[in-house]
Amino acid sequence: MATRREFLKGAGMLTLGSMFAPSMSIDALAAKPKPAPAAPKYIGLQTYSLGPELRGDKLAPGLAKLKEIGVTDLELAGYGKGKVGGVTMADYKKMCDDAGLKIMSSHLNPDCLERNERYSKNNIEVIKDFWKRAADDHAVLGCPYMVQPGLPHIENISDAQYVGEVFNAAGEIVASRGMKFGYHNHNTEFDKVDRSNRTSFAVRGFGGNQDAKPIEQVFIESTDPAKVLIELDVYWTVMGGQDPVEWITKYGNRIELLHIKDRLVLGASGMMNFENIFKAHYANGHKYFFIEIEDTNSGKQMERVEASAKYLINAPFTK
Ligand code: MG
Repeated sequence: MATRREFLKGAGMLTLGSMFAPSMSIDALAAKPKPAPAAPKYIGLQTYSLGPELRGDKLAPGLAKLKEIGVTDLELAGYGKGKVGGVTMADYKKMCDDAGLKIMSSHLNPDCLERNERYSKNNIEVIKDFWKRAADDHAVLGCPYMVQPGLPHIENISDAQYVGEVFNAAGEIVASRGMKFGYHNHNTEFDKVDRSNRTSFAVRGFGGNQDAKPIEQVFIESTDPAKVLIELDVYWTVMGGQDPVEWITKYGNRIELLHIKDRLVLGASGMMNFENIFKAHYANGHKYFFIEIEDTNSGKQMERVEASAKYLINAPFTK
């Protein structure tokens, strides 16, 4: 079957052929409207992928550069004290507007998680207050999503279920400000938990309770789909010993966002089956994702983001 690109190429050649048709006058040709340029593909980027390129007075030119290389949407990182990366929400929004970039999402963790405190009845009100403040701040950005990327301390299934309850509370608060709350995984969410303990992927093969479940699954089962969505980081899913396509297919109604990540530049390692990942995501009726590169000190971040964006723009399997 012809790909969309091949089809368009074919259509283009047919138009060219018609220029030589004897019945077509020069005037008629001149009057023919030019075809509208194709809309650019959605290309989301998690700004954590970049370091100094988006700091201080490099922020505005850095955003302009992202637009130039084909990025269309951002997921921010670095929220704290009512600012993102030290820039007020209003200023950040204005700079993104000026660059022609849409702020789609933002990553943030409650302060107590940053301090490594366990989620409990002792700090639930503090956590709720954090989400209220953060949601008010994020309403200024006009972003549809707010996503927690940090895993609270979990020893057993009750800990994981309690965290799920806290996520529900956060989701309710975020929804009351017109946004959606999500949770983003790393590899340790695929450690299994049962009633009494947690077994890491590394030792799971040597025994353990057959009824134990991955923490990620407990989160999905203990949260309300109307309040909490899942942003699946496909690279960390693989590093947790799982197939992201299976998860996306099984939990299509929960996994609304993806982190598209590879060891470094997308597609370079050959270990990620992005084609099947995108197919499964689109089949669920979702389209949003964010490129992420974990490379904050090489000095090559922008180069690697550009190569990754190019990979997805040229991929026949992205829309
Ligand atoms: Mg990620």
